[in-house]
Amino acid sequence: MRIPFVAGNWKMHGSKAMIQDHLGQFTQQASALNNVKIAVCPPSLYISDVQSKLAGSLIAVGVQNVCEQAGYGAFTGEVSVDMLADFSIPYAIVGHSERRAIYGETDAQVADKVAALLASNITPILCVGETLDEREADQTEQVVAIQLNAVIKKVGAAAFANIVIAYEPVWAIGTGKTATPDQAQAVHAFIRNLLAQHDQKIAESVIIQYGGSVKPDNAATLFAQPDIDGGLIGGASLDPIDFLAICKAA
Ligand code: PGA
Repeated sequence: MRIPFVAGNWKMHGSKAMIQDHLGQFTQQASALNNVKIAVCPPSLYISDVQSKLAGSLIAVGVQNVCEQAGYGAFTGEVSVDMLADFSIPYAIVGHSERRAIYGETDAQVADKVAALLASNITPILCVGETLDEREADQTEQVVAIQLNAVIKKVGAAAFANIVIAYEPVWAIGTGKTATPDQAQAVHAFIRNLLAQHDQKIAESVIIQYGGSVKPDNAATLFAQPDIDGGLIGGASLDPIDFLAICKAA
């Protein structure tokens, strides 16, 4: 009953040429896929070009970050939810580990971003996940619970009807080290159970993507796990053939 969802996170990659060639090629072939939702999240500067390229397809566009402050104002360098709404953008990644680690985003800020997006009817793709040190110290569940509880406290568990969760172990992102299907499944089940303590129905319906070195050769076994509902794909989403294979695996 949960339709798998695969989103490509381009990070700070992409160009007009790549959108014309790679994305054009991908879109033609991916349009034939049933039973999987697909989105691509380019850098904000390229949103219009990507939207034009995706026009007429079922592939959606998303951004990689948003300002926690809604509306307009003196926030140099930021993009607000109102601007995303102006472009009818349905998804925004929030709380990616690179935003948390490199730009110091806190759990409270991430929760504010989620709230701002929901108020504009934009679906947050909320990233959570532990570092290698935290995993080795056996703190994975504790860390993920703190990250999720900050959002639950802000917007309530019922709001997760309109939130996508991406579990991304930080040690697996861009490292070529994927969590094993069992390791990933265990955390996905933990996340679903945590939500079930608030709301059983929401827990059953919430989409939980896995992210961290998903490639064509490991996607199918990861996505076959009962609590993994697709993926958030970094590096492999830049290659149209690899990304298509991953979407097919879902
Ligand atoms: P990766 O990135 O697939 O390149 O590991 C995933 C992500 O950071 O969303």
